[in-house]
Amino acid sequence: MNDKIWLSSPHMGTKEQFYVNEAFDTNWIAPLGPHVNGFEQDLATYTHAKHVAALSSGTAALHLALIMLGIEPGDEVICQSMTFSASANPIAYLGAIPVFVDSEEDTWNMCPVLLKQAIEERVKLGKKPKAIIPVHLYGMPAKMDQINAVAQNYGIPVIEDAAEALGSTLHGKPMGTFGLMGILSFNGNKIITTSGGGALVSDNEAYITKSRFLATQARDNAPHYQHSEIGYNYRMSNVCAAIGRGQMEVLDERVAKRRANFEFYQTALKQFEGISFLKEPEGYFSNRWLTTILVDPKLTNGVTREKIAEVLAADNIESRPLWKPMHLQPVFAASPFYGNGLSEKLFKNGLCLPSGSNLSDKDLTRIVEKMIEVLT
Ligand SMILES: *Cc1c(COP(=O)(O)O)cnc(C)c1O
Repeated sequence: MNDKIWLSSPHMGTKEQFYVNEAFDTNWIAPLGPHVNGFEQDLATYTHAKHVAALSSGTAALHLALIMLGIEPGDEVICQSMTFSASANPIAYLGAIPVFVDSEEDTWNMCPVLLKQAIEERVKLGKKPKAIIPVHLYGMPAKMDQINAVAQNYGIPVIEDAAEALGSTLHGKPMGTFGLMGILSFNGNKIITTSGGGALVSDNEAYITKSRFLATQARDNAPHYQHSEIGYNYRMSNVCAAIGRGQMEVLDERVAKRRANFEFYQTALKQFEGISFLKEPEGYFSNRWLTTILVDPKLTNGVTREKIAEVLAADNIESRPLWKPMHLQPVFAASPFYGNGLSEKLFKNGLCLPSGSNLSDKDLTRIVEKMIEVLT
């Protein structure tokens, strides 16, 4: 059997181990310490966000953001349907109701036109949404200018789910910094990883200070353990942050390599009319976290997304369908949805190809040779 090729696996640089050793040597083995502070500083410098809190996961970051906006049971929160479940789950943690909005063709992210329709209808029903969560899927920035314009028009705060988009920019501005708050993820498969981890970013210092407080069990300033609010154990470990510090030093290289993977696939498969790639609109810069293709069986002599995935799997190569939209998930069946059919089409025909920054030329050649074989 050929070696396994993963969809997106961790890729350490040269400094992570050094920083981890430093954490051990100084006995900062705790959810606080100099690497946590340093990693927050590195992230702030990189994203130009004024303030950053390093947390245990992207999901935790989103949960805290919603808590700080005062989301309560029965409230409605608008969320992109085409995404990973972690974008929507924290809404449910609070007993609130996700209202799902479909995507648009240019970026596969939240459609600003449908967003406006959804808000207008919810307002008419007396349920003005309390927040909007757009996502930058696979690293491609959502149309934040239009989404923010709609949001501002109705006075609804935006929390950007930039979990997949560290290193992506829109008109030169880093993703995560367009909303009132943004969240990042450093889970094992993301563009950089701390094994598990996340961050909340904001230009508003009060949110970040409050998030650190809530993330450390909401301890009041008192000589004994006193609590006036419900707290969480959501802070990042100093050991994980040590990994993060090393990863930040290679982030730009990781982005460059993921973009090179995309270019490789696009060039190698360009003769196949039935295989299409998502272009970057003018002013959009994607980290190309995952390279995705759409397969049109009408133009591939009937070769489907499933067939391609099957042939790759037989050669020990991992690929995955695009995210199954949230409005199609059994757990969210009761949630309102504003659709146009796009996310369903993406789910039906889309495939994520191996995209790790540690793929060799040999790996990439092996993958496209298999694809060419099945498509020819
Ligand atoms: C990974 C991911 C998250 C959650 O991040 P974790 O750190 O795994 O909790 C949220 N949203 C999207 C779109 C993601 O891809």
